Amino acid sequence: MAFELDNLHDEAGRIKALGRLDAQTYLSEASFDQITTLLQLILGMRMVTVSLITEDKQFLKARQGLDLKESARDAAFCNIAIRKYEPLIIEDTLEDPRVRDNPFVTREPFLRSYIGAPLTTAEGYNLGTICAFDTTPRRFTAQEAEIVSGFAKLVVTKLELRSQANQDSLTGVHNRRSFEAALRKELMRQRRTKGIATIAFLDLDHFKRVNDTFGHPTGDNVLRQFAAVVLQNCRGSDFVARLGGEEFAVLLPDTDIEAAQVWANRMRRQVEETRFDDTNEVSVTVSVGLAALDGAQRGSDAIEKLADDALFSAKRQGRNRVVAA
Ligand code: GH3
Ligand code: MG
Ligand code: MG
Repeated sequence: MAFELDNLHDEAGRIKALGRLDAQTYLSEASFDQITTLLQLILGMRMVTVSLITEDKQFLKARQGLDLKESARDAAFCNIAIRKYEPLIIEDTLEDPRVRDNPFVTREPFLRSYIGAPLTTAEGYNLGTICAFDTTPRRFTAQEAEIVSGFAKLVVTKLELRSQANQDSLTGVHNRRSFEAALRKELMRQRRTKGIATIAFLDLDHFKRVNDTFGHPTGDNVLRQFAAVVLQNCRGSDFVARLGGEEFAVLLPDTDIEAAQVWANRMRRQVEETRFDDTNEVSVTVSVGLAALDGAQRGSDAIEKLADDALFSAKRQGRNRVVAA
């Protein structure tokens, strides 16, 4: 099966696609377990996994028949399987020089047979595989290869749909629903680790005027570019979301309120200096309210209320400023 787009050699793009689909964020999920259980039944093989290949690791998103969450990328059969757009079939590992000396072959669980289909996105990036292993050699039929490929398509569709459900369609950042989930998750993490984190609520100032003066499409463009400016100022671990309208939120893990203030002011100035069109006419400012997660004494609603009140103060004090709760 040839693929029209050849992105097999664009590793940076592949890693980006993995990030965009947020495929690593959620650990094992029941919905993927259903797929692996079904494939295990159909093929009658001992082990089935959904594996994602990150920069240096293989990450098992779902697994049946083995107790492993991740391994080094070099040791992963799936790292070989993602080099092509068709299934990789190994009927006897001991006969195949690519895997004969692989640690999963020479040691527990002593793998002898493998079939894996790449998880290919619409842009032609192979994120990982869905694959089955056994400890005895076996032959595979063309029909079995087709079945595994079909399951790979199902997994990719699932990843795409889930990502769309958590994304804001105008700006591409996360939506309110996924922000709430990320905040709850961060609070749980704080309860375990006593870490620090801050949330920022951002609201564009007098945005109605932008729409009234330049039109709604220009307003949309400003929202998109504003989101890009925020993202530019964020680390990979920060969580950026559009809550609705011209309101955004950022969750800043491992950041205390002082550091968040420095961050917010830098971003605020950059927004102020940005011209959002070719004629240099369209500009906006942003007001920011900050609230610390304070070792999870408060729940997510209370923290959001604090950030919202701080934002309201920023507006009342004249806008284009940062206020910490
Ligand atoms: P303030 O400084 O008090 O925040 O004033 P504001 O005008 O930004 O606030 P207000 O809540 O009165 O208006 C928000 C405006 O945002 C109104 C609405 O037209 C605009 N808006 C909301 N969602 C969108 C969108 O998706 N696209 C565009 N272009 N405009 C939007
Ligand atoms: Mg608003
Ligand atoms: Mg506003």
